[in-house]
Amino acid sequence: MLEGYAGRILRIDLTAGSSGTEAVTEEFAGKWVGGRGFGAKILYDEVRGVEPLSDANKVIIATGPLAGTLCPQSAKTSFHAKSPLTGGYGDSNMGGLFAPEMRYAGYDAIVLEGRADEPVIVVIDDDRVELRDGRAYRGRGAIETELALKKELGDEFQIATIGPGGENLVRYACINHDYGREAGRAGIGAVLGHKRVKAVCVRGTRDIPIADLPSMERIVRELLEHAGKHPALKEWQDYGTSQVIPLSSEWGSLPTRNFQTGTYEHADSIDHLHMRERVVKLDKACFACPMACGKYSYSEKYKVYCEGAEYETLALLGSNCGLSDVDDVLYANYLCDELGIDTISAGGVCAWAFEASEKGLLDVGGFGDAEALFDLLRKIANREGVGDVLADGVRAAAGKFGGSEFAIHIKGMEQSGYESRGAPAMLLSYMTCDVGAHHNRSWAVMRDLEKGRDVLDGKAEWVIGLQHKRPMFDMLGVCRLGWVELAIDLEYYARLFRAATGREWSLDDLLLASERVWNLTRCYWFREVPGFGRRWDMPPRRAMEEKIPSGTAKGYVQSEENVNRLLDDYYGLRGWDESGRPTKETLERLGLDFAAADLY
Ligand code: SF4
Repeated sequence: MLEGYAGRILRIDLTAGSSGTEAVTEEFAGKWVGGRGFGAKILYDEVRGVEPLSDANKVIIATGPLAGTLCPQSAKTSFHAKSPLTGGYGDSNMGGLFAPEMRYAGYDAIVLEGRADEPVIVVIDDDRVELRDGRAYRGRGAIETELALKKELGDEFQIATIGPGGENLVRYACINHDYGREAGRAGIGAVLGHKRVKAVCVRGTRDIPIADLPSMERIVRELLEHAGKHPALKEWQDYGTSQVIPLSSEWGSLPTRNFQTGTYEHADSIDHLHMRERVVKLDKACFACPMACGKYSYSEKYKVYCEGAEYETLALLGSNCGLSDVDDVLYANYLCDELGIDTISAGGVCAWAFEASEKGLLDVGGFGDAEALFDLLRKIANREGVGDVLADGVRAAAGKFGGSEFAIHIKGMEQSGYESRGAPAMLLSYMTCDVGAHHNRSWAVMRDLEKGRDVLDGKAEWVIGLQHKRPMFDMLGVCRLGWVELAIDLEYYARLFRAATGREWSLDDLLLASERVWNLTRCYWFREVPGFGRRWDMPPRRAMEEKIPSGTAKGYVQSEENVNRLLDDYYGLRGWDESGRPTKETLERLGLDFAAADLY
């Protein structure tokens, strides 16, 4: 028995309609920890040289050794696949209740392989694995499907679904769970769509073996005592991430009208106070979470319920599309969730289309036009008319219609919610993130404000530190917000890891494992994407060529020289060569000799 682990990986062959399990070995767990580590390693080994939207791609669902234990916020599930949006390494994670249930069913990871002939519902009930006929759910909304499956199977099942966007292979289709928790990024919903998997449902009744339960209880009590006293706890419970809207606008970081500027004149119309007053009905928590940052809302104007809107959605579908009414943003959020498309990418793509319309390249409406936005979202999810091109992402749309100078993406992934011309560490975080322009690996904007927007020294080091710490949580299966917002010491998580697994690892050992995964995903890009290198890490042209025209970050731009200086620092500190390729020595230091053999 492997302490801390459910101990098995479930493989489901959708083509053959069969399944089997394999053991999680001591050696595998000891090197890759769990969650993001398991998913990245399986992807690296098994998905090589294939088209993302082909039968040979795989979807790996993985969680870590703390998920579903007493550890607070131990709720994270990672989905991995070769990304149809970027063509490179893809993962995305979600909170909710899926990860604990998957472990109670006896699995640390589930690998979906091949392709079903017709839409299927994957039902996992402890050891029983079934592919049920899913044709009746074809074309139905992601949340509608979850509700219907709960009725069919019972409330104890935890369910992940895709919407029409996934079925129609929108390259930024997401995966929904718990009525609006989304694994949003990298288009893994489209890979499920290609595989004709409409939903994965899981229920489990097993225990998770814990090496030292009394110690775990003691550590959790201490941790909760600390968290309970933190002054920010109440604000997080009341407002969740929406409270960042006014701050971000104040910092000049709130993406506004396709990242043209970073201070939004209507920020106070879409902020946390408006949300709470106008639409929020319930606070919603993931498994074992005292912060309950999720907000469940109802729009009287549109007569819809929706989880959210959280910061990224308010930023990308709100200020970035020029909306100034919370109900409008909430309805756009609802449409994206039900249609099964990522609110961040969808907001980026629609904002680009509005700017392209202003410039005469398209004719789809303009900033602030809520009806035009709703129309575009529906067309994208159903691949109708112009939506068929927009469904491939902003890089592809600009390739077809022109407008690449204002296409805001890195590696093909639309940038998430921080305008970063006045925040070089944040910009570097986006440039080097291993799935594309995503914030969750390194949220460094505060560092820019603390140390100075003009300062480049030390920024690369800071970003690298965050890129090891934050993904460590995705390896453990735990939400990082307790550490980020309630200052829960990282040592707690190392202590909990030791108590769960009995493995005498220090925090540094965990961070080293995280660095190993970071380098592995980098090798994946080099192996899978011809010509991959420094140019792929470059930011959108707007970030280097246009000064911010207004607001608190007015006048800021990051010149190509600055950008290259940041990359030189970053590559040097990581032990990568000047093209951004991990050197042989670096790979050997991290125990990645097999990846060195692929690259050299
Ligand atoms: Fe879920 Fe929010 Fe709690 Fe994190 S802080 S576990 S995202 S409810």
